[in-house]
Amino acid sequence: MKKVYITDYFNDTKIEKKILGKTFKVICLNKKKIDLKNISDADGLLVWHADINSKVINSLKKCKVVVRYGVGYDNIDIKAASKKKIVCLNTPDYGIDEVADTAVAMILSFTRKIVYYNDVCKNYKDEWQQNVLGENLINPVKRSDDYIVGIIGFGRIGSSISKRLKSFGFRVAFYDPYLPSGYEKVHGVQKFNTLKELLKNSNIVSINSHLNKSTNSLVNRNFIMQMKKNSILINTARGKIINKLDDLYFGLKKGILSGVGLDVLPDEPPNHSENLIKVWKNNNDPMSKKIIINPHSGYYSTKSVIEMREKASLNLKNAILNNLFINRIN
Ligand code: NAD
Repeated sequence: MKKVYITDYFNDTKIEKKILGKTFKVICLNKKKIDLKNISDADGLLVWHADINSKVINSLKKCKVVVRYGVGYDNIDIKAASKKKIVCLNTPDYGIDEVADTAVAMILSFTRKIVYYNDVCKNYKDEWQQNVLGENLINPVKRSDDYIVGIIGFGRIGSSISKRLKSFGFRVAFYDPYLPSGYEKVHGVQKFNTLKELLKNSNIVSINSHLNKSTNSLVNRNFIMQMKKNSILINTARGKIINKLDDLYFGLKKGILSGVGLDVLPDEPPNHSENLIKVWKNNNDPMSKKIIINPHSGYYSTKSVIEMREKASLNLKNAILNNLFINRIN
């Protein structure tokens, strides 16, 4: 019988067992810091956020495959795994619609001032329309086709955001140096060849690239200084693409940013002494209405989590029993 460990978060094995069947024994560790002794006999690992570092990898005696439940695999030491001839796979497509919906919801919430009005109209004293007109003297609400949304990283999620935004009438452009030419035609959007061009021309910037060497800390003061005044910045990709939350606070203070929507943060949960977090938590600070933070929940729906667990299990089963490696990383 093959042994598979679910390393973290999940306490039950029902979904995995249904896919893996009787050939596999499935055990939940439910620990973020893995006890090395516990998993040395694994034939395969199903990993969510646990740190699969070289120590963990080297403790495995006969493991054939490590499957990441999610997309990003920065918590797995791929080099160490390759050295031990352990194949690593991921599950890139379970939550595309959910993350795209989250990014678009954040964008619409800012452009239509949904969260803003919900807050301020509680205290309106006079006639409502007088207030609405007053609210729009500075940074007025524009029609959707007055905005150019620049998407950094035009892969599965980036292009799904584009599809949604186009149906609302937004003008969409992207920067993605790794895509072959022609995708702009496929999607009916504009392509920028440089990041500088995208930042100079976009009113809304959505980050949807991987976290890699070229995107780590990409959003810093220099990046923000290149954006248009009153821009909206959305990050639903990876928190570490932002250098420091303080850089976003700087952008808001300077009036370069009029809205910041984050589903992911450099540190999750965030450090509560950071200026941006302090302002966000203080409902009395007008700047708090310009910040939306979600707890890395963009991927989540009841269906997406089931799909993620089923796909990861099937991928692991195929790898161990049939030498079929889908979504191979190394
Ligand atoms: P994908 O692989 O389909 O697309 C990513 C795109 O980024 C690729 O087209 C790639 O060429 C591009 N890219 C890489 N480096 C770039 C750079 N320097 N500049 C511009 N583009 C660059 O990935 P995806 O499934 O669309 O995922 C996008 C991001 O969303 C990833 O960072 C992923 O980890 C994240 N994600 C977040 C959640 C969440 O819950 N918030 C859930 C799933 C995925």
